[in-house]
Amino acid sequence: MSFSDFIGNTETVQRLREMLGLGHFPPAVILAGADGSGKYTLALMLAQAMNCLERQIPKAQKDEQSLFGAPLFGDEVGGGEDSSGGASESGELADFCGHCANCRRISLAADLEARCGEAVEARENLRETDKKETRIFVQTHPEVLVIPPDPPQMMIKVDQVRHVIQNIYFRPAEGREKVYIFTSSAFMKEAANSLLKILEEPPEFATIFLLTTNPGELLPTIRSRAMTFTLGALTPAEIEKQLAKLRPDWDARQRALVARLSEAAMGRALSWDLEAYVAARAQALVLLKSALGKADHSELFKATESFRPGAEGRKKMDELLRTLYLLLEDLMFLQSGTGQLVRNTDILGELKKMAEAADFGWVRRAAEGLGEVERGLRRNLLRSLSLDAFVAALEPTM
Ligand SMILES: [Zn+2]
Repeated sequence: MSFSDFIGNTETVQRLREMLGLGHFPPAVILAGADGSGKYTLALMLAQAMNCLERQIPKAQKDEQSLFGAPLFGDEVGGGEDSSGGASESGELADFCGHCANCRRISLAADLEARCGEAVEARENLRETDKKETRIFVQTHPEVLVIPPDPPQMMIKVDQVRHVIQNIYFRPAEGREKVYIFTSSAFMKEAANSLLKILEEPPEFATIFLLTTNPGELLPTIRSRAMTFTLGALTPAEIEKQLAKLRPDWDARQRALVARLSEAAMGRALSWDLEAYVAARAQALVLLKSALGKADHSELFKATESFRPGAEGRKKMDELLRTLYLLLEDLMFLQSGTGQLVRNTDILGELKKMAEAADFGWVRRAAEGLGEVERGLRRNLLRSLSLDAFVAALEPTM
């Protein structure tokens, strides 16, 4: 792993690496962007670059090298590692090796959801009195602390910020820079005020990252003490390129499909459950084709009958509805001459045939019908019956 593995937002990443390389990194950085746009990944990469044992940051921070017992390794230690982005070659661009002890330990925090899950589970196992006083943190390296919203309220709480205050003023011992990553901007009021106190006088060896989907959620006084960088949406082509590297098990058609379904978010694309999606879509297609009078009813009943009551059926039903809406939208794109917006590109031929068989009014009625199905579900109507009724109402009357 290195910065070259970060796809999209090249200029923003370049700028951050430059600031770091020059030793002018701001004490607090707001990384804004949609879910899955790479805010956390980038913050963790920067934390690695700040503490990497093999790629030392040039200039301003050079003096601090003496703090380490270990000698400064050159790139040759990496033994054939790609060093194209290394600080030594490009002059001012900070980078990290990805395999030294610090890089490896920091990268253990990469799967945020899993690490948070573990922390929450550990708290669940505590005695009742300790449980109340324990806050959720993710820490896989002594100098890098990740502060996620604390359940069940899913807010950053004042005790979490207090913990940061207790520890931020101690010099780093196993790295060059202490890094604090707040993964959400949902702060309780008192927590936000405490954070402000740190931002008023941050120690020179600490960096605070605030990740947010909406910077407006942060206090103006916090925003004014931090530098904001926004990660823009990725193009499907950028996502496809990255998927080609990270998901070699998907073929080109599957990668194109996921890139379009993931709404420009790399994180979402990588974790996309393609198998479940394709299974739900197969059933959605049976429904729509039946409704167009183009499929056998026995097939329809076989499909709708599988939507049984219970939690599992509920999840399956949600997937089905989401897929149906996506397919109807694709049909609408085809009918209105904006075929380039179609997301289910791997079944384009099939969709085109359906778009010809259905007129605009039919698609609109189908979308309304789905709204009806959703309302029925809230009233606990049987799922299979709701779906049969949805199809029947759309069938051509001859
Ligand atoms: Zn390293």
